[in-house]
Amino acid sequence: MTDTLLEVRNLKKYFKTRRGMLHAVDDVSFNIDRGKTLGVVGESGCGKSTTGRAILRLLEPTAGSILFEGKDLARLNPRELREARKDLQIIFQDPFASLNPRKTVSQTIMEPMIIHGIGEDNNARMERVLEIMGIVGLAERFVNTYPHELDGGRRQRIGIARALALGPKFVVCDEPVSALDVSIQAQILNLMKELQTRLGLTYMFITHDLSVVNHFSDDIAVMYLGKIIEMAPSDQLFATPMHPYTQALLSAIPVPDIHHKNERIILRGEITSPIEPKPICRFANRCNYAFDRCLASEPPLIEVRPRHFVACFLHDQPMSETVNVTLEEPLPDAVVETELVVEQLTDPAPEA
Ligand code: SF4
Repeated sequence: MTDTLLEVRNLKKYFKTRRGMLHAVDDVSFNIDRGKTLGVVGESGCGKSTTGRAILRLLEPTAGSILFEGKDLARLNPRELREARKDLQIIFQDPFASLNPRKTVSQTIMEPMIIHGIGEDNNARMERVLEIMGIVGLAERFVNTYPHELDGGRRQRIGIARALALGPKFVVCDEPVSALDVSIQAQILNLMKELQTRLGLTYMFITHDLSVVNHFSDDIAVMYLGKIIEMAPSDQLFATPMHPYTQALLSAIPVPDIHHKNERIILRGEITSPIEPKPICRFANRCNYAFDRCLASEPPLIEVRPRHFVACFLHDQPMSETVNVTLEEPLPDAVVETELVVEQLTDPAPEA
């Protein structure tokens, strides 16, 4: 029997721009079971970070429900939301930018405890700070150091410690290792995995890097222009990607084998504007398989196999009747475009 911790239904987040409404997150639905990880993957600008922030209400959702242990976070008043925040935390991408340079390690970790009135006094809180530092592998000697005195890996450990200070149940990990050296990334990922087992945490792990999320996630949701276009158990998504966009993303992952040459898929064509998008397949401009129907309506997200959802007209029939998609011959120096230029959205100040 599944134990669903978070149930997101028809979540939308639109931003007003001079040219119309920007659909950053457009009708997104998914569940995350307790103690599990949902990896959310896509190019920059696809809406993955906005989804994470809307769930935590660091950004106010435009529409939809966010059921956390049965309570709709989207409907909580400020007092109720503040109480719920103990269970909901976020780890940011850039530990240097997200930490206050004027606060020491202990002050940074202790701050959310003070805000939420946890611990009798600062002595009791300091005990908890030292305990958490031990849990995330930060030596006690760093207790009075400042962020600029530490390397990237240690700074991210502070970010993790701060997120854990209130004993959360659910953590949004927003590109937590992409600002770190490759050698440090594995250490932090291993630490996060270990903490998940030890503390029973549930993660939403946001990244643009599919190779990172593979070993970390139970399920993966691929986003494109504000929509989930494919979602499946991690192994299944890697073994049998069904959406042409997911296939292109996977083809761009380098394989550490000199005898194996990955056949990369080129995505050509303009990226559709996320401002007032037409009700057609948002990937149609770049899709090698686009046909009339793709430009006439929008493909819904359909469960084509148990727990494998795809939004593509090639796969909106039972599996036995599904079109068999074979990849085109790749061109030399194939490159998957990864940049989407949208209006810069301002991040809100991190909250405890
Ligand atoms: Fe390509 Fe059509 Fe599928 Fe969209 S619906 S991904 S355009 S085949």
